[in-house]
Amino acid sequence: MRGMRCSVLGAARSGIAVAKLLRSKGAAVFVSDQRPLEQLDEEALSLRSLGIGLEGGGHSDRVLECSLMVLSPGVPGDIPFVQEAGRRGIRVLSELEVASWFCRSPIVAVTGSNGKTTTTTLIGRILGDAKKKHVVAGNIGTAFSSVVLDMAEEDIVVLEVSSFQLDHCESFRPKVSVILNVTEDHMDRYRHSMELYAASKARIFMNQSDDDTFVYCADDPWTVRIAAQAKCRRLSFSTDTTLQEGAWTENGILMLGDQDGPKPVIPLDQMTIRGIHNARNAMAAVLVGSLFGVSIASMRATLRNFKGVEHRLEFVREHNGVRYYNDSKATNVDAVRYAIQAFSNPIILILGGRDKGNDYTVIQDLVRKHVKAILAIGESAQKVENAFRGIVPLHRASSMEEAVRLSAQEGRAGDVVLLSPACASFDWFKNYEHRGKVFKDLVNHL
Ligand code: ADP
Repeated sequence: MRGMRCSVLGAARSGIAVAKLLRSKGAAVFVSDQRPLEQLDEEALSLRSLGIGLEGGGHSDRVLECSLMVLSPGVPGDIPFVQEAGRRGIRVLSELEVASWFCRSPIVAVTGSNGKTTTTTLIGRILGDAKKKHVVAGNIGTAFSSVVLDMAEEDIVVLEVSSFQLDHCESFRPKVSVILNVTEDHMDRYRHSMELYAASKARIFMNQSDDDTFVYCADDPWTVRIAAQAKCRRLSFSTDTTLQEGAWTENGILMLGDQDGPKPVIPLDQMTIRGIHNARNAMAAVLVGSLFGVSIASMRATLRNFKGVEHRLEFVREHNGVRYYNDSKATNVDAVRYAIQAFSNPIILILGGRDKGNDYTVIQDLVRKHVKAILAIGESAQKVENAFRGIVPLHRASSMEEAVRLSAQEGRAGDVVLLSPACASFDWFKNYEHRGKVFKDLVNHL
């Protein structure tokens, strides 16, 4: 890297970390962000003291004076500067790719449209409870670039990986890759093509070979379709069919199978996380754990205790016999599909926000069966109402406060009130965490 000119787009957590990493390896680094300098945090501003150039308020031509351009996970690959870089023959890579150049440890990389954070966290717990040295990083709290140089060769790094990062990888090669599912999301960024989106996910295993393993969901059609391209060992998991090898569910028990035959891991009703989707996440995590030699007894204990991650089908409170759940991270329709299926009680569903090109009609049947009323919120309230008119009673709420108040009025003992919006949060909130916190606060004050 010595003397190589590198530009980094995006001065948030990962951008800052990769800039420091490249600088520490002797590169001449320039960082550029859309936000004005006043809006960048201390850590970004302190890059200058390390001899790293920094600009704010949009990208200037200076970002093109390099031979390597590194994109932070949040920077779209189709902005004019990135395209121009491509035209000029500049290598454009993701932070994930660059960090992986310096990684000597085995990498577990988890991707999918939904379940990444839950599964990545759970894999971390499984390894931690079994006293296996590991680091959890990627899209999840800690940037890969910020930990890569501190890791010993025998540590395991568990990474949450998005398709945007995979789009700009060349040599990234995990020891174990996981695809949880490929369902409609980010269609605005993949030109409304599932083929393009799925091809992007498939990049997770493109450099894997004989010694590596690809773990995938056998119940998900798009995942199965791309799995055929993997050249390494393949292991799958399923809630729909019994398998010989891999993980599956049988009579309500999560099973693991290898050359020694099938072994029960845990009855699903003894796990704290609920729903088919979480059974699948657990199967993926158990397969990864077993590849690293974690015992079934240890994984069983972890699965009993793992309470899931905040804002993912998170139990908030019971009030007047009604149970309230916060699933603010459900930012696409498929996540809502699984949230609805996780309950047998009547559901009052709070749905809507900033639409990402959603087709809500695909869950009409499920809504008809399980949902007793929809509270439409946010920018997409009208579109939500159009999709479910005549199917369930609809109410419009003009604030989260009103949505919670109306749902409390509608709710009868035994009902579930579920915030699972299927949309981004940026119409009314700073982010999905903010949306979830506002909801929980209101529920706790009922
Ligand atoms: P990601 O990091 O991929 O966004 P999360 O674990 O944060 O995934 O979960 C996001 C949303 O998707 C939540 O609403 C969660 O309940 C739902 N979800 C989690 N796992 C799955 C899965 N395997 N299939 C479908 N939906 C899921």
